[in-house]
Amino acid sequence: MHKRSIFRFIVFLLGIYVLWNTIAFADQTIRVAGDENYPPYEFTDRNGVYKGFNVDIMRAIARTAGMKIEIIPMRWKDAVEALEKNKIDVIQGMTKSAIRDKKFNFSKPILRNSQAIFVMKDTNNVSELQDLAGHTVSTQADDISEELIKNIPKVSLVVKSDQEQAIRELLDGSVDAFVGNRLTGYYVLQSLKEFDKVKIIGDPIYSTEYCIAASKKNTKIINLFNDGLSRIKKNGEYDRIYHKWFGETVSDGSLPFKRAALIIGVGIIIAFLWIFLSLHWNRSLKTLVSIRTRELANVNDELKMQQEKLEQNNRLRGKILENILDGIIAFDRDGYALGANIAAKELLQTDIEDGTRFDELKFNNDFIREGYFQALKGNIWRRDLEWQGKNKQTLNIDCNISPIKGPDDAVEGVIIVMHDYTESKLLNEAKEYDKLKTEFFANISHELRTPLSVMFAAIQLLELYGKSDDSDQLRGIIDKTAFGVKQNINRLTRLVNNIIDVTKADTGFLQLQLRDYNIVNVIEEITLSVVDFIENKGISIQFDTDIEEKIIACDIDKIERIILNLLSNSVKFTKAGGSILVKILDGEKFITISVKDTGIGIPKDKQDIIFERFRQVDKSISRNNEGSGIGLSLVKSLVELHDGTIRVESTYGCGSEFIIELPIRVIGDNIIDPERESINTEKTKMEFSDIYS
Ligand code: ADP
Repeated sequence: MHKRSIFRFIVFLLGIYVLWNTIAFADQTIRVAGDENYPPYEFTDRNGVYKGFNVDIMRAIARTAGMKIEIIPMRWKDAVEALEKNKIDVIQGMTKSAIRDKKFNFSKPILRNSQAIFVMKDTNNVSELQDLAGHTVSTQADDISEELIKNIPKVSLVVKSDQEQAIRELLDGSVDAFVGNRLTGYYVLQSLKEFDKVKIIGDPIYSTEYCIAASKKNTKIINLFNDGLSRIKKNGEYDRIYHKWFGETVSDGSLPFKRAALIIGVGIIIAFLWIFLSLHWNRSLKTLVSIRTRELANVNDELKMQQEKLEQNNRLRGKILENILDGIIAFDRDGYALGANIAAKELLQTDIEDGTRFDELKFNNDFIREGYFQALKGNIWRRDLEWQGKNKQTLNIDCNISPIKGPDDAVEGVIIVMHDYTESKLLNEAKEYDKLKTEFFANISHELRTPLSVMFAAIQLLELYGKSDDSDQLRGIIDKTAFGVKQNINRLTRLVNNIIDVTKADTGFLQLQLRDYNIVNVIEEITLSVVDFIENKGISIQFDTDIEEKIIACDIDKIERIILNLLSNSVKFTKAGGSILVKILDGEKFITISVKDTGIGIPKDKQDIIFERFRQVDKSISRNNEGSGIGLSLVKSLVELHDGTIRVESTYGCGSEFIIELPIRVIGDNIIDPERESINTEKTKMEFSDIYS
């Protein structure tokens, strides 16, 4: 307790002492001197501002201790002198040495200081202080380094007023080395931008304490500064100032700190910029990617839709193709099948798979093979064909084989289209037949009515003159009407016979009564039987034969009808003054009978149809003569019953020739000689009955 009281008392006294000192200096301005160019401790910058580590420390102490100070920059030498002569109170920073310790009172160190040897980079023979012997060395006047160099023998010393001047001597090449404060040396070289040219040799030299110096007698002021110094060390002010001047500005090494800092700073900025840009770019990229992804997804959806549509269309096309009744097959230009629909497979009765080669297929028609090769050359091949279908049914096919051409007109394949028009053909034929029948009935009605009208008129005539007393006149009228009635009865009978026979021929009931006849004789007799009649019409008729006798088996009645029918047609379509030739030509297997006239002739395109039932070439042409259009059809049936053929050769406007070929065969009976009378009677009249005399 007692000890504590004593301690408290001592602290109290110290407090009183400091307070007294503070009060003593409170009103007094302490004059502080500093080197005007000893950076970074103290120096005047380009703008004339005096600053540095020492300046900041002094101001911080003054602020903390409540002192008024005046900092006066001056040349170092002058500062030392001013302190010695008490013209100033303190020097704000001085390296403590043995000599100086005798002259001045030093505060606690404001920092530890060291000296260094600076030489040009190409100097190699200096590695410590002693190596400077015999060299020219620059230094600052009254600086601690001056004291160090003085001890080295044979050194030529160049003393300058401040460290910068001394360093410039080194840079100019006026001296071999500069010895001075290490940190100041760095600072000056950096600010002169000459650091690259200079190197620092060896370890820190003469590590000393750097303190505030006052005159030997002025202990109080030193205590005051010591107190302030410990306060700013405690409150962190000292550290901040130290870092300001030494921690950031100057660094050891070959790279000047500022430049390094600048590079690092720029590096950091670039790194930040890069990171920022990367992040930004990344974000932009992400946005872009998400936009593109969305677009792609949309395109994808669109594509999918299009694909579905395409597939749907293809399916539809396939279905249409399958269901088309026409047979369709396509081949590529190398002859591989691209496809064939059901109708094609059925029509060709071949199973065609996709990819089947054309060569492998067996068609039931050579035309397709021929057309395929033509189409490959670029030609269109088309023909109406008849081929046997499934149940041996004859099909009518309109076959179209065309090239499939590419954009440059090159043949890329072949398409075969087969249209089965069998049904429509039959239908057309049925329609046509129906039309013909209608026409036939119209004709028939006319054919029936005309003879009836004639006969009716004849009866009326008879009624009118029947009561006449004039027997001669009555006789004449009876003869005339009897002839007319007879002729028209013949005409009606012929018509009815023809219709019956045609129907019989159609149904297969028309039978031949075959007997062996000399056909030359038969034809001649028939011809002769109508000579008078024909010549009456002003038409000449001739019979010619290259053989006298030819026995064949035939039905004389039918032959008679055939020849009389042809002759009656010749008379019908030949004008007066024309001629008719009936000719017989012998042959090996057939005998040829020709009936040729110089009549109106038959147009080429009608020559085939005249043998068809109910066909007449042209009403206007045949109008002069009546006819039902069944004569030639019946003739053809009768010829064919004899296993013969009939054809016509005609030039329109010049005449026609009907040529019959009958097979030469006999049944071996007695040969019948046709009686001329049997021919030249009623039958002739009947066959010629529709030719009005
Ligand atoms: P039709 O009873 O009408 O004469 P056909 O079958 O005998 O019937 O003859 C058919 C058609 O053939 C005739 O309407 C006529 O147009 C033509 N025709 C037949 N023979 C001859 C011929 N000798 N000269 C010119 N046309 C003919």
